[in-house]
Amino acid sequence: MAVPKKKPSRHRTHQRRTAWAKKFKLPHLFNCPECGKLKMPHRVCPHCGQYRGEKVLSVKRK
Ligand SMILES: [Zn+2]
Repeated sequence: MAVPKKKPSRHRTHQRRTAWAKKFKLPHLFNCPECGKLKMPHRVCPHCGQYRGEKVLSVKRK
């Protein structure tokens, strides 16, 4: 089997680990201008069903 010739430097190991950790970070969230709850950008708000001031989804209410 192929074996690495050199031990990876601390810098290289850290670089790989930060790149891996960045993939699993939470998606960017911001407060909805309509209801003030957290939502993802470029998505219809799951709380009030509005997108750019227009009602897109009818949100079920109990
Ligand atoms: Zn909303």
